[in-house]
Amino acid sequence: MKEAVAGELAAAYHSKLVDDVRTAGFRHDKGRLTVHLAREFGFCYGVDRAVDYAYQAVARFPGRNVFLTGEIIHNPHVNDRLRANGIKFLSDPDERGRHLGPDDVVILPAFGVTVEEMKRLSDLGCTLVDTTCGSVLTVWKNVVRYAQDGFTAVIHGKLKHEETRATASQASKFPNGRYLVVLDREEAAIVCEYIRKRGDRNAFLARFGQAVSAGFDPDVDLARIGCANQTTMLMSESLEIEQMFRDAMRERYGEAALAQHFRAFDTICSATQERQDAVIALLEREPVQLMIVVGGYNSSNTCNLARICASRVRTFHIADPECLLSADRIRHRPVGLPSTAPPSEVVTENWLPAEGRVIIGLTAGASTPNNIVGQVIETLERFTGTA
Ligand code: SF4
Repeated sequence: MKEAVAGELAAAYHSKLVDDVRTAGFRHDKGRLTVHLAREFGFCYGVDRAVDYAYQAVARFPGRNVFLTGEIIHNPHVNDRLRANGIKFLSDPDERGRHLGPDDVVILPAFGVTVEEMKRLSDLGCTLVDTTCGSVLTVWKNVVRYAQDGFTAVIHGKLKHEETRATASQASKFPNGRYLVVLDREEAAIVCEYIRKRGDRNAFLARFGQAVSAGFDPDVDLARIGCANQTTMLMSESLEIEQMFRDAMRERYGEAALAQHFRAFDTICSATQERQDAVIALLEREPVQLMIVVGGYNSSNTCNLARICASRVRTFHIADPECLLSADRIRHRPVGLPSTAPPSEVVTENWLPAEGRVIIGLTAGASTPNNIVGQVIETLERFTGTA
């Protein structure tokens, strides 16, 4: 079945131009334009597999309704193509409340679904096509182990992100399983302060009430913690947060007892890490005038790539080539907003040098297909008068 859909996938997402740029050392020169492409960018192995499975599901179950629980990945083009391919999205307004049964096929996305959702769909007798990425499953395995051993999973992630909700729900596989989600260093610092000195329990619950498991008691449930992450967070921040918790637990319980109170493991997926490392390497190597980061505005890993770039050079996070309005105007998402914030865009004028050489760095999030990256390069060629 994989072979049967391979042609369709290539036609939908492949770009010869991007292949050529890759072959030319991730550099594209045309007239006054130079584009430096990050050495790791775009579709990751988990997304590749999820999209492949979705196309295979349509081919394997002809005549049956095929559903997705929601976006398969955070890229509007890929989701729209799947809709055009006949897959219905249970998150779309006209499909909400749809009654599912044994005749229905339901695809689970790369970032997984909650334990409750999985049970609900299984109980309904649906045929499930599970595309949950192996890297996400590794995190789940550790969270389950934490719950089994009486450790609270402290998850660095975005509370509203599907993956973090699914990961947190894994703790519920054991009756006393607990979790707490922290978004950033600031929230981690508040929790660490509580670990060190205790504090106002009610104030703690008022602040983190939405981010903890039912019945969470900070005076009890922060005594043994295990760190985990949403796989697409900024790796440097996740490592820093892990260290903050390690230090707080060491202060509270002492070095000798640390292992009884604190656990951690590396849960940033290799694809996320490689894309973050590649963009840092690009910016250290090449004197780019500006950086373009392509990917869905609700894509966590894309937003984090944009954050890395913006700390070093003028950066524009765009969803697709249509955001490149003209040589004078670009529509983009302000960098720094979390991916779960409502989508918002601004238009910046005079973003491209009008004369002389134009040297642009380019990368794309793990859910952005190559054809979109290729179209961005073609648009840049047009705007610099080289197409
Ligand atoms: S970003 Fe990582 S965890 Fe997410 S789908 Fe891709 S490989 Fe899997």
